[in-house]
Amino acid sequence: MKLLVIGSGGREHALVWKLAQSPHASAIWCAPGNAGIAQERLAGSQTPVHCVNLSPEDLPGLLAFAREHQPALTVVGPDNPLALGIVDLFQQNGLRIWGPNRQAARFEASKAFAQEFMHRHGIPTARSASFDHPQAAADFAASLGGRCAVKADGLALGKGVLLCDSLPQARQAIDQILVHHAFGAAGARIVIQEYLEGMEISLHALCDGKTAALFPTSQDHKRAWDGDRGPNTGGMGACSPTPFLSEPDLVSAGRAILEPWLRGCAAEGIDFHGILYPGIMLTPAGPKVLEFNARFGDPETQAYLTRLDNDLIELLEASLEGTLNRLELKWRSWMSVCVVMASGGYPGNYSKGQPIQGLDEAARLPNTKVFHAGTAANGPHIVTQGGRVLGVTAWARDLSTARDAAYAAVDRIHFPGAHYRRDIGAKACQFWVNTPLYS
Ligand code: AMP
Repeated sequence: MKLLVIGSGGREHALVWKLAQSPHASAIWCAPGNAGIAQERLAGSQTPVHCVNLSPEDLPGLLAFAREHQPALTVVGPDNPLALGIVDLFQQNGLRIWGPNRQAARFEASKAFAQEFMHRHGIPTARSASFDHPQAAADFAASLGGRCAVKADGLALGKGVLLCDSLPQARQAIDQILVHHAFGAAGARIVIQEYLEGMEISLHALCDGKTAALFPTSQDHKRAWDGDRGPNTGGMGACSPTPFLSEPDLVSAGRAILEPWLRGCAAEGIDFHGILYPGIMLTPAGPKVLEFNARFGDPETQAYLTRLDNDLIELLEASLEGTLNRLELKWRSWMSVCVVMASGGYPGNYSKGQPIQGLDEAARLPNTKVFHAGTAANGPHIVTQGGRVLGVTAWARDLSTARDAAYAAVDRIHFPGAHYRRDIGAKACQFWVNTPLYS
């Protein structure tokens, strides 16, 4: 089976790596891919994966490529092409593609839609409302005591959320988005949410329009620096599972969120085939949804796919065909940690083209996989090409050993200005140490 994967990050490297292990795969293209993806080979035939120089937003280019090469399945990684309607476009042209269509992708592409959907269908979330007038927005922020999250409605490269501690800050955030258009058209409307306190975790569920198969828990680390300090990033590392939600609590949280979500989708005629990834705050009043994403998380995917036992092609096929109820998700008993190595300055300005040393040495370590994100080939060398450069992932029977293995690999890799967090998974390990129930 020939496959086309769309995207260029660590998530897509993990997807390609896992798809390449399937005996069903006969060829894989990745558009545009990265230097690590270009080094992958199909496990059976050893056929190399081919990177194709097309942007994930170049829908006409991707369609022309797919028409010419006829992949049996196209797999979409990032949110932007989904929001632009790549699934609808491919389907209209008779091409099979996995991911939510444009209407279903609105769970991520419009925070106002997602929030109103949650209120309509009784899904546990923050108190919130959406606005396009600054005064009404400020009045609502005042009713929350000023402590709130002000969010641009649309996709804003992961930067459209401003957390506020006071009413003056909230007013400033509202003006920044609605009056000064800091996020352009994505901020024509805003959502204001009450500020939720607690531990943040990620859920993922593979959906086929009728069924939602819940993954184990995972946890991203959004802030740039150790101790959850510094600016928000796309994600500096992940681990799976996390101890902060026990297995029974995961099952009941899944039920509280996914059952009304599925009923709501059916009632509103939304046919969701893909990954629903709710960001969750574990509040004293129970788990609440902060936001919905409509694709695999990055870097959660790197932690998940190194634990997944199933054939990924079979899972994606079932998600597309509506036959997920015939499959069971199977997870290996080990735990995974992914440490993101980023360019100096990220998430602000950073330089590109820095040579990366030590990748071969790291690749020889057992139970370790270095997923590439922002990398490119420059002659025989691999150089930095983006903010998040590598997702160094390792797995072991327990999280503490997995962390040690991931950092042992990180210690072998060098590039000028590299920065990474030293505490990925540390809180989870600490929790396990202090809570023998989970050990
Ligand atoms: P989002 O893109 O909506 O997940 O927001 C980005 C980050 O902002 C989240 O990962 C949280 O850390 C934080 N955040 C978002 N909404 C809230 C909220 N209502 N209360 C507290 N923190 C929030």
